[in-house]
Amino acid sequence: MSKHFETQAIRNQTERTQFLEHSTPLYLTSSFVFEDAEEMRASFAEEKQRNLYSRFTNPNTTEFTDKIVAMEGAEAGYAFATGMSAIFTTFAALLNAGDHVVSCRSVFGSTHSMFTNFLPKWNITTSYFKVNEVDNLESLITNNTKILYVETPTNPAVDILDLALLGKIAKKHQLIFIVDNCFATPYVQKPIQFGADLVIHSATKLIDGQGRVLGGVTVGSKDLMREIYLFARNTGPAMSPFNAWVLSKSLETLAVRVEKHAENALKLAEFLEKSEAVEFVKYPFLKSHPQYKIAKKQMLLGGNIVAFEIKGGIAAGRRFLDALKMCSLSANLGDTRTIVTHPASTTHGRLSEEDRLQVGITDGLVRVSVGLENVEDIIEDLEQALSF
Ligand SMILES: *Cc1c(COP(=O)(O)O)cnc(C)c1O
Repeated sequence: MSKHFETQAIRNQTERTQFLEHSTPLYLTSSFVFEDAEEMRASFAEEKQRNLYSRFTNPNTTEFTDKIVAMEGAEAGYAFATGMSAIFTTFAALLNAGDHVVSCRSVFGSTHSMFTNFLPKWNITTSYFKVNEVDNLESLITNNTKILYVETPTNPAVDILDLALLGKIAKKHQLIFIVDNCFATPYVQKPIQFGADLVIHSATKLIDGQGRVLGGVTVGSKDLMREIYLFARNTGPAMSPFNAWVLSKSLETLAVRVEKHAENALKLAEFLEKSEAVEFVKYPFLKSHPQYKIAKKQMLLGGNIVAFEIKGGIAAGRRFLDALKMCSLSANLGDTRTIVTHPASTTHGRLSEEDRLQVGITDGLVRVSVGLENVEDIIEDLEQALSF
């Protein structure tokens, strides 16, 4: 019988050494030794499964990866230095020149840059559908389309895509369906249950959860992961053992952290809905969310990201950021500390208004990554800043 989520996150542990340590030690070693020439031969021929070199596997990265594999209900996985290296390596491993990708327009900024500025170097092109135009998706699929790629909830507008529907479309057209599950975490949403072939995480966000290290991971079917693993072990984007050690410890508390993040986020969203200074609030588990029903179907909780539209546009958004006393202005998210951004004047400030609206970034949109401080203190800070 497979163990429950929290138990997997705690008890899927590397075998103990002769010291019988309780908590997994850090294996800072670039390579591993062999008994003799025959063992070395058999290991390199993969007749024997063991650690050879930390670019391939290391006890710490394997422990971290095995936990995510279990938590997502996948078969295999590989851990990367960053979320972006997980995303780039996954695409580079699976695609050939001339292949085509269909993606939702609302994806992480660097992922969008990869699609538009870098993959075309290898004649790999991407077509986008808008979050509210899934009906249009099938018309974008060509004979060369190989991958369907989405994030849900989206960043920063917190829209929800219907994973079961997308999974069906991918299957019908024999596409590899890939989901960036970073905003939800495997505690909240398990894309493989809805037909995803691969799930990618930036472990930098809620998986670390304390703003310390960068990391990424891809998990999914054995066959696809084998292709990705062979590509990765030869091209070198591996996660460092130290980061894997930190992140594996982080997973032990993921469930309790995400429960509390979501509880705080829902309370903040309910407060903002009543505020005179706010035009609208977007949080998946608010009844007013346009995709509330889909969110309830595929997510256990609403997550920790709340978006809202402040009255007064760009100027009001900037004033609001400057008036905050406790919450941090930072590009990260999923930290214990509450982080607030105003995309139109900061991260997306260089885009034209039209391009911003394509991804749901209105002038007054504020994104809050709700932390683990006492929620009354979070609300108090936002309330005083909204009154400026
Ligand atoms: C941050 C983020 C990434 C990139 O991860 P890094 O660890 O910063 O490379 C990818 N996808 C989403 C949704 C993210 O939030």
